[in-house]
Amino acid sequence: MSALAYLGGKKISKYDPGTIFDWPIVNKAMEQSIVNVLRERKMSNWDITLEFEKEFARWHGVRYALGHNTGTASLHSAMFGVGLGCGDELICPSITYWASCLQALSLRATVKFVDIDPDTLCIDPSLLEKQISPRTKAVMVVHYAGMPADMDRIMEICRRKKVAVIEDCSHAHGALYKGKIVGSFGDAAGFSIMTGKSFSCGEGGMLITNEREIYERAVAFGFYERHGSDLTIDYLKSGMGLPWGGYKYRMNQFTSALGLVQMKKYPGEMKEVDDAMNYFCDLLEGIPGLKPHRPKKGSGTTKGGWYCSLIHYIPEQLGGLSVTTFCEAVRAEGGACSPGCNRPLHMHPLFHNIDVYREGKPTRIAHIAEDIREKPEDCPVAAKIGTRVFSVGRFNSIKKNIIKDQANTFRKVAENYKDLLAHDKGNPPELGGWNLSFR
Ligand SMILES: *Cc1c(COP(=O)(O)O)cnc(C)c1O
Repeated sequence: MSALAYLGGKKISKYDPGTIFDWPIVNKAMEQSIVNVLRERKMSNWDITLEFEKEFARWHGVRYALGHNTGTASLHSAMFGVGLGCGDELICPSITYWASCLQALSLRATVKFVDIDPDTLCIDPSLLEKQISPRTKAVMVVHYAGMPADMDRIMEICRRKKVAVIEDCSHAHGALYKGKIVGSFGDAAGFSIMTGKSFSCGEGGMLITNEREIYERAVAFGFYERHGSDLTIDYLKSGMGLPWGGYKYRMNQFTSALGLVQMKKYPGEMKEVDDAMNYFCDLLEGIPGLKPHRPKKGSGTTKGGWYCSLIHYIPEQLGGLSVTTFCEAVRAEGGACSPGCNRPLHMHPLFHNIDVYREGKPTRIAHIAEDIREKPEDCPVAAKIGTRVFSVGRFNSIKKNIIKDQANTFRKVAENYKDLLAHDKGNPPELGGWNLSFR
């Protein structure tokens, strides 16, 4: 009989992981901050939000921050902010959460998908330049799964081609690329700060930028009550008082109050997460079939994100064993993991044949002359990446016995992979999900 628990053996894990994957870490100051807002009935004001914006902008070394009620909203405002409009194209990697790009359709713009780099899992700069067309207004760079994209190459291409850059930092709050914080490279950046994200404040989002006009356009779009104080540009002032987008994007002050507390404790907490995750990755190094997705040593890049942390899975080193069966066997040993990641957006029907706004054409191509809809094989890495990664939990503290115990479950399955080959069910046609809760 096999030693593997999946096949009837004894499971290797000895410890219950307990609360080590819980997030965010809730303390008394957070509780008190909510009670204060509630007692003062300040949920819909924006005085606390202004303070939070100031701190958030300072953290990123930028001039402006604008608090939103979701990360989705902050990215929508960023798109409007850089001037994305009718017939324009937003370039986006195919592997990301939909809120990196879908809002472009409501601006009468469209989305062009570019494949990811199999190593960084972020947009592949070597493919980006060829995809920039005269319609391209902006590129959405997603620092996917906590790992910064290759900003040197991306910024060089986009500046030369005069295309705006928006960063989606929802997976990578505080991550550094060559020592510089993500969100401070492009023309604008959006962050989700919803519950599961690394910098977690409940529902909310933040837009940051150094450009006054981008900031003011975002204010014009969904912050009608701030028009009087914040709009100075003539063409925007002419439309004061009503939100240009028809959206109300103001942050709830429960979120702003939590944000101010999080600003103080996040650096310390993320140092602990960083140490714990690096320790876990160190333990996985050298296990056949696995390659931790982490900053390359010596590149000067440190990963502060650690949201939806992924491990590269190389089935060729394990006799072709599917990631699905591998993960089931790890879970049987007591390990926490889940096969796949976000599904490739370039293959979803919403980007192919759905006429959202009843224009008599698929919305994706309603305002452009050319049919830019991709075939699955146009982004071959994205189409297959779900079979070559799995997600793992975020260790919130460096409890070495538990982390070692978890790492042992992966090692044991990889070392006994041959026992699984005859039982391999293979992967389902679609792995991962359009929306993921990682655990
Ligand atoms: C979570 C997320 C968003 C959207 O944020 P919400 O706060 O959920 O609206 C956008 N982009 C990425 C990559 C995300 O993971």
